[in-house]
Amino acid sequence: MKIEFLGGAREVGGSCISVETDSCKVALDYGTKLDEEPKKLPKDFDAVIISHAHLDHTGSLLSLSKNNPVIVGSDITRDVTVDLLHDMVKIQSEKGVYEFESSDAERIRDCWWSRDSFALPGLNVQLQSAGHVAGAKITSLQSEGKKVVYTGDFCIHDTEILQGCKLEVLPKKPDLLISESTYGGKVRPPRKELIKQFFEQMSLTMARNGNILIPTFAFHRSQEMAKRIDTAIEKGILPPYNVYTISNIAHRINGYFNHNKPLFTKAIRQQKHPFTYRNVKHLYRTGQIEEPAIVICTSGFGHAGASLRLLTDWAGDKDNSVILTSGYLPPDSPLKQAKEEGFFKLEEDSYTVNAEVKQIELSGHADQTELIQLITKLKPKRTALVHGDLEQAELLSEKISNITDVCIPEENEIIEV
Ligand SMILES: [Zn+2]
Repeated sequence: MKIEFLGGAREVGGSCISVETDSCKVALDYGTKLDEEPKKLPKDFDAVIISHAHLDHTGSLLSLSKNNPVIVGSDITRDVTVDLLHDMVKIQSEKGVYEFESSDAERIRDCWWSRDSFALPGLNVQLQSAGHVAGAKITSLQSEGKKVVYTGDFCIHDTEILQGCKLEVLPKKPDLLISESTYGGKVRPPRKELIKQFFEQMSLTMARNGNILIPTFAFHRSQEMAKRIDTAIEKGILPPYNVYTISNIAHRINGYFNHNKPLFTKAIRQQKHPFTYRNVKHLYRTGQIEEPAIVICTSGFGHAGASLRLLTDWAGDKDNSVILTSGYLPPDSPLKQAKEEGFFKLEEDSYTVNAEVKQIELSGHADQTELIQLITKLKPKRTALVHGDLEQAELLSEKISNITDVCIPEENEIIEV
């Protein structure tokens, strides 16, 4: 097998890996980078396997749509991907002339095969649950007596709504493991501890009648957060408060989640409509908010939409809080500035931040401990680290080089297996 790293090498964003055998060629993910022109990826694949519905793994599919590709992934990955691509077409078209239309997003749905295993001439492919987000998969490929495993984005830890990946179902001693390394250098405190910190920060702000802004991704993190707060109010861990979500896509995804209960934990499966909340209301606009309030809204990075609007409205008041649950913030983003410098700039204006800005990483990615756990369990002959900044990948590499041969491929580098 010839493996070429077309994107997501030594960085997070634009994930795409080509795997070529003597008789076929597949792509693992077909992503794009945030706020960048999609780069030209090859189109001559017999199949494109999508690990999960985040745009950094799917965002270039629009450019492939007219070729009627075979796309493989889970049902929910298809539904969410198509919605996010529609949204991308809408946003880009509003900015000016855009080369893709809604019909290109819709065609992706018709090209989709929902499979957990399939075969092409000389190649067998298996997909296993990856944790991370609903429907995310780890891909195992076998060809010419060789095994390759691609983690996509994954985690081993369970969350309130989703189980982590099960290492025992993955093939042992693969010839090549291609692993994400987003948090390759980071060991997080136990999740229970983080959840405790999260509720403490919420309670303190609620006690002084402050507003709480929680910028969150529409897919999965929004549902996880809304469910967390809904349940906490239900159980009396948090007092009653105005709690809102503002994101039409997130609202639609709640429906997909309600219809796909088998994907989630036992506790979730036992509820009739687990993602129809009692204490969290969906709003269409920030103008509908009754303060004081907790607002879960997009964009997750706080650089656009309701979260940017509320950041500018609420940042000046010391009674308010902004809670960031993502570990990664784009350089120069208003949220990163707000957190690190106590002010942020938008075009010509500068805003002082008096509100508390707390980062509590409730991440869906494996941290260093989990990554080492994966590698110790699978014992791959070689490991290629992708989907992580070079520094994170290098920190992980130091820790695992006694177990496996490690490389950190550059963009367009080729590995033969
Ligand atoms: Zn992801």
